[in-house]
Amino acid sequence: MSYLACELHCHTKHSDGGFEVNELQKSAKENGLSLIALTDHNTRSGCNELDDSIIPAIRGIEWTTYFGHMLVLGAKKFVDWRDAVPDNIDMKTQSVKESGGVIGIAHPKQFGSPMCTGGRWEFNVNKWENIDYIEIWHDSFGSQNYENAPAVIFWNRLLDKGYKLAATYGRDWHSNKKQGEFGCTYLKFDSAPCEEDALNALRLGRSVVSTGPKFFFRVHRMLKTFEIGDSIKPGNVVFSFFTDLHARESVEERLEKPVIKIVTNGGKTIVEAAADERHIHLEIKKGCWYRAELWCKENGLSKPLAITSPVYCE
Ligand SMILES: [Zn+2]
Ligand SMILES: [Zn+2]
Repeated sequence: MSYLACELHCHTKHSDGGFEVNELQKSAKENGLSLIALTDHNTRSGCNELDDSIIPAIRGIEWTTYFGHMLVLGAKKFVDWRDAVPDNIDMKTQSVKESGGVIGIAHPKQFGSPMCTGGRWEFNVNKWENIDYIEIWHDSFGSQNYENAPAVIFWNRLLDKGYKLAATYGRDWHSNKKQGEFGCTYLKFDSAPCEEDALNALRLGRSVVSTGPKFFFRVHRMLKTFEIGDSIKPGNVVFSFFTDLHARESVEERLEKPVIKIVTNGGKTIVEAAADERHIHLEIKKGCWYRAELWCKENGLSKPLAITSPVYCE
């Protein structure tokens, strides 16, 4: 098994989506996805209708508050979000963690009021260790998307402070009416995809956001191999890359001059190589994080095709 395309942010008629639960699952299957997360606004009622024989699914909810939207996946007990305010969010996230849940911040840099009240992340988090991932890419791509670049900067700053946070893409899939280019999150599975393994991949930081291409790396030192999300001691290592530009169909025309970048603290690119590069030697330094990005040119402008979660140098 390997990295498989998932959609981790979906709505149905149980909140403001247009799908019945099984329509969403069938649509996800038709879109070539391997797993979804059902994350209706403020309810898990749709989870009872999930049928994993169509496509495996994570049981989740999107806490939809005036101070931000938080994706809570796989929690085994009810945690009340209705009184969540900026200064009690750590208590709430602690309860979710104790119930086995995985926590992600949805669209942190969406416009807030009056465009979308509460859509922007304004909670005062102190316990960042309770948060598993940030939805750094959201909705459709293209020039209208004003929120992805600031969300990546938001994520970089947290990584720079030493927090280990995975990245996800969220289509925020409500129906098939909306047109646009949509991406996916690749999660690493060791066997057939299922809810528990997907939750674990998120906990371990084994994720890649992508416009379509399958792209990931491993890090090698002597006989040891490390995966995305792992912590590694300082010193010389080799990054090995897997790049399949055509893993999903929608991206064929966008692949002018693709390059691989290794990016570290501050969002700084330290290595750039052709996308068919297989191995890059690098000395990694204590306290730094390293991720890989796949970029291409479109109409002369550089744009990202995929961003991995980091590895961390202890
Ligand atoms: Zn939302
Ligand atoms: Zn949503």
